[in-house]
Amino acid sequence: MALLDHPPIWLQSLIGRLVVKMPADEKSLYLTFDDGPTSGHTQWILDTLKSHEAKATFFCIGKNIRKNRGLFDEILKAGHEVGNHSDQHIHNWKCSVKQISDDFAECQKLHPFAMYRPPYGEVGRKSLKAIPNKKFILWDVLSEDYREDKSGEDCFKKVINEASAGSIIVFHDSDKASLRMRYALPRILDHFTARGFVFKSIPQS
Ligand SMILES: [Zn+2]
Repeated sequence: MALLDHPPIWLQSLIGRLVVKMPADEKSLYLTFDDGPTSGHTQWILDTLKSHEAKATFFCIGKNIRKNRGLFDEILKAGHEVGNHSDQHIHNWKCSVKQISDDFAECQKLHPFAMYRPPYGEVGRKSLKAIPNKKFILWDVLSEDYREDKSGEDCFKKVINEASAGSIIVFHDSDKASLRMRYALPRILDHFTARGFVFKSIPQS
């Protein structure tokens, strides 16, 4: 789940470490999957991406990496990028700088992540202070696959209506989102591939 539907693009230029959208100079799209790795879903996502020759970025939660280490290794082996999405999926706005910093470090013990995505999109002064020298990757297109009042078709239409070259698109690698994610993802891959787009991982630097 995320709070911010459209983080304002002006934030990106205001705070150099914040990324809302990638450069639009090529027909590239950046799919991201939050909250995994998850048994039963991560492998399906990897297979679906592979069949479309697509790359993506997985923002993983530390507690789920410990549960599903093999799946995390599969993500890396398939050539996708990964980012730190906290250890316990905490609410940064309710935590102290030390709590945010400790939670980030706990997940960082599992992999030397170069990127961070705050849970629920809760970016602020405390998290920027707690996690220095890392890029914060937000998004400009939220599929809303976690919303139980939406259909897979709603998610598909929202993404095809809102995404443009350079867009960072959020999906979830979770039980809650899987029904809508599994409907929308292959259709989005087909839709944009037919229009000449390429799906890429977000580079570390
Ligand atoms: Zn999340």
